[in-house]
Amino acid sequence: MNCQTAESMVNRYIEHDLSVNELEDFLDHVENCPSCYDELETYFIVHAAMRQLDEESGDSSLDLRELLEDDIRRSKHYILKMKFRRALSGVGFCTLIAGLGGFLIYIIMQTL
Ligand SMILES: [Zn+2]
Repeated sequence: MNCQTAESMVNRYIEHDLSVNELEDFLDHVENCPSCYDELETYFIVHAAMRQLDEESGDSSLDLRELLEDDIRRSKHYILKMKFRRALSGVGFCTLIAGLGGFLIYIIMQTL
């Protein structure tokens, strides 16, 4: 992914609107590209500050920088979870096929 693509995804990242694959590529880039990280951080902090104003939560002492790190951690966790889920359903499919194959062999053996 290049910087232009990453920058175009900043907003969607903040809105949590990226697909798992996009999210993974995006985080990969952002974590290795200080200029995009800065960009993301700026947008994220502005967004978080606005939301805090909307909610009028008294907790304005919240460290906004930490908030982004927290969000990235959570996003990574989400990617892992989705990958795990996908792997599981893959395994489930293989088990199903293997099971069907076994069943077929069993039927054939019975009829022989
Ligand atoms: Zn970049």
